[in-house]
Amino acid sequence: MKGWIVPPPKEPTKSREEFKKERIAKVSWLVEHGYLRSDRIKEALLKVPREDFIPRNYRDYAYREVPLPLPGEQATISCPHSYPLFYEPLGLDKGHRFLEVGLGSGYGAAIAREIVGSDGLIVSVEIDPLTFEFAKGNLENAGYNDIVLVKGDGGLGYPEMSPYDRIAVTAACIEIPSPLIEQLSIEGRVIAPVLKDDTQELVFLEKGVKGIQRNVICEVLYVLLRNEGIRPQHLTE
Ligand code: SAH
Repeated sequence: MKGWIVPPPKEPTKSREEFKKERIAKVSWLVEHGYLRSDRIKEALLKVPREDFIPRNYRDYAYREVPLPLPGEQATISCPHSYPLFYEPLGLDKGHRFLEVGLGSGYGAAIAREIVGSDGLIVSVEIDPLTFEFAKGNLENAGYNDIVLVKGDGGLGYPEMSPYDRIAVTAACIEIPSPLIEQLSIEGRVIAPVLKDDTQELVFLEKGVKGIQRNVICEVLYVLLRNEGIRPQHLTE
């Protein structure tokens, strides 16, 4: 499988207007390529300025199909198509209680906040303290002050606010961690990149009354979920 080639860091030159044009073009591209279908996800992607969630020296590349580095040990903002790739099969919608594992830049949480609206709930967990602070700042600057931000191992979920209707894990795991399945409501759905040999598959689980249904969507490439299987002290802000 190919790795990602990150473009070289540089001083940003693009204006707000240029970014807006790129954002509109990207949304059309996502629709044309079959990644994006639902109106709420489309509106959210049009509304949130992705460039505001990217470190200054990579900002000009905001709408390129490449993950970009973030402060922290292994964090990246996922490439633009990742968001509809995860949120469409989840059927993320108005009023959902949503848990994200891997806050990263905060962009995915901001998009989800726009999709679920004020009746819904967004909780996001990040393990890396530097990444956590970066995301927190981005979300504050962008005016998102009602997202529950948790510092700790997201493989353990966040039982305090469970159950969740939808869960997205944005880092690759050996198998979808069982605490996440436990914290899912009935008819809840979880999506995660799962390691398979030397590749990864995007796996989608639905929790029904009669058991769990598992589907594989496609091959993907994400950073690895850290501290899996270890039970560290759960730090919360
Ligand atoms: N959703 C993010 C992309 C995140 S990349 C965005 O929209 O920008 C994956 C993130 O998962 C990284 O920030 C990484 O530090 C974090 N991560 C890795 N292992 C984790 C764990 N066990 N719990 C919580 N976060 C974890």
